[in-house]
Amino acid sequence: MKIGIDLGGTKTEAILIDHNGKELSRKRIKTEKNYQGTLNGIKSLVVEFENEFGLVESVGIGMPGAISVDSSLVKNANSIWLNGKPIKKDLENRLDREINLENDANCFALSEAVDGAGKKYPVVFGVIIGTGVGGGIIVNKKVLQGINKIGGEWGHIPLPNRTDLEKQHSNKCYCGLSGCMETYVSGPGFTSIFNSINNENLDSHQIIEGYHKKDNRCVEALDNYVDHLARGLSLIVNILDPDVIVLGGGMSNIDYIYENINNQLQNYVFSYTLRTKVVKNFHGDSGGVRGAAWL
Ligand SMILES: [Zn+2]
Repeated sequence: MKIGIDLGGTKTEAILIDHNGKELSRKRIKTEKNYQGTLNGIKSLVVEFENEFGLVESVGIGMPGAISVDSSLVKNANSIWLNGKPIKKDLENRLDREINLENDANCFALSEAVDGAGKKYPVVFGVIIGTGVGGGIIVNKKVLQGINKIGGEWGHIPLPNRTDLEKQHSNKCYCGLSGCMETYVSGPGFTSIFNSINNENLDSHQIIEGYHKKDNRCVEALDNYVDHLARGLSLIVNILDPDVIVLGGGMSNIDYIYENINNQLQNYVFSYTLRTKVVKNFHGDSGGVRGAAWL
């Protein structure tokens, strides 16, 4: 049995799976917004599972941000009370065992590669398009972290060949760089571009609704969205050439993407034929927590 824990900013979700990936139990608690509280919460989940089911073989945790290569401290986490803390060491002391810790986008990608939409393929690129944008590279069911631990972080590469209009209507990225993919293909990026161009104040659901009612502005916004996605992913295809690209996160629920992205991607990659497929995730919201268990 394996425990997977998805440490989010507002809730911490945990599952217990067997060797075949069958879910045996699931628990969810509120994430305490302080460091000691977060550690205590994780410990209580592990203790509860083991009291009910017996000792487990491994504990894996997916979290936002990364562990600094130099200092082993958390960095870039939007759960800011974790930043600068030695979370791996502290959790290992509390749980009295080694644990696996990984960025949440890598956990999503791993989950889809092991027994999700990418299970038949050796090279899987998993993409999160939600509030933020992240990605993970999985080769033969293993996370390819990279020496800087930023392997797959395509959210902060610039959108290729930006037009003047696209430059004009994009926001500066919180990371300090400009033109980042995240500012175009995250949920907030998509809506903010639409509202800026059309002088509106709609949310993403209202824009999708508008598309179904054939509002030209919304149809155009979705066309542009798929085009932005295709341009960004073409870089991944040219460099990594994955078998499959699996999309997750809130924006991945838009069916329009899958009806158009594969044709659009073909226009931008350096190959007359494109065998890479862009597909929707299989595990839905459970990708992060399942991937953590497979670490
Ligand atoms: Zn950025």
